[in-house]
Amino acid sequence: MSGKEDERKRSSHHTDLYVSIPATCLPIVYHPDYNITFMGLEKLHPFDSGKWGKVIHFLKEEQFIHDGNIVEAREATEEDLLVVHSKRYLNRLKWSVVVASITEIPPLLFLPNPLVQRKVLRPLRTQTGGTIMAGKLAIDRGWAINVGGGFHHCSSDKGGGFCAYADITLAIKFLFERVEGISRATIIDLDAHQGNGHERDFMDDRRVFIMDMYNHNIYPGDRFAKRAIRRKVELEWGTEDSEYLQKLELHSEGTLNEVRPDILVYNAGTDILDGDPLGGLSISPQGIIKRDEIVFRAARQRGIPILMVTSGGYQKKTAQIIAESILNLKRQGLIGAEAEEEERGSSSPETHLLHGAGSAGSTSTTV
Ligand SMILES: [Zn+2]
Repeated sequence: MSGKEDERKRSSHHTDLYVSIPATCLPIVYHPDYNITFMGLEKLHPFDSGKWGKVIHFLKEEQFIHDGNIVEAREATEEDLLVVHSKRYLNRLKWSVVVASITEIPPLLFLPNPLVQRKVLRPLRTQTGGTIMAGKLAIDRGWAINVGGGFHHCSSDKGGGFCAYADITLAIKFLFERVEGISRATIIDLDAHQGNGHERDFMDDRRVFIMDMYNHNIYPGDRFAKRAIRRKVELEWGTEDSEYLQKLELHSEGTLNEVRPDILVYNAGTDILDGDPLGGLSISPQGIIKRDEIVFRAARQRGIPILMVTSGGYQKKTAQIIAESILNLKRQGLIGAEAEEEERGSSSPETHLLHGAGSAGSTSTTV
């Protein structure tokens, strides 16, 4: 570390997002506050705004997790957000009309801002805190999943497309500023939309390599932001599994062979799913599960820490697909084995459940 870097790391503000986490916890981050539900407003967006809680529900049903072995997200404070955002941008969010425009929920315009803060922005700030926490956990454990986050249309001074806080940029900048030895990041963005937020934030930053694979016919079509993409894969309407997975395999391998990062941020949007009203692609549930497996395997085989965020995709069946994909990663031996070891060594009543779930389909131990 250079003297200057050393000085910057020492002068970072106090944050609660890097608290130490017990080894018995899986690096899966969530808080019930992620979910946006009030007055039926959530129904006005083409959008299952309770999907995050449903993912957790399915994972509990399958006995992969319980309340005591996942990590509770904390809300990002204003000081945390100022690591990336300008004061001016955060002040603009104090106007309901601005939040209505960013979240694409027009009726918010008519609500007093304290209510908008509590019911909409706080959930998004908690998810943002979750992504920052998961970044640190990924370094410590080799992998981490924030069940929310992935607000890839928001940059330091501009929100949009439901994204009010730049959680991906924040997670990476926190690591650069606070964790010794972390100086290169790769983002693999597989949401159906172009990730123009982090692209604008890292436009001239050679420490960050961005691969983005998206439907180029839809929002946001940000030509300026595209200049930040080092590996760009533009897809056409209705792209199906075989073409999608072939391109993914080729370009994810290529990306990780080109530059070896200290952290991989994987934006795992599920709006590539067939039938999504916004994404315009035709990927099956099995295709999404395979996709996540390809990315995790590429990272884990190389020993690169991976942070996954769930980003867009809000059909009714989306939550179950995300949960099934996480369970598949576990079956493939790509996540979860280390916590199982911890639990087995303890006297936790959950031990036999976790052990049973883990040994059922472990066919490969590539990590
Ligand atoms: Zn999207």
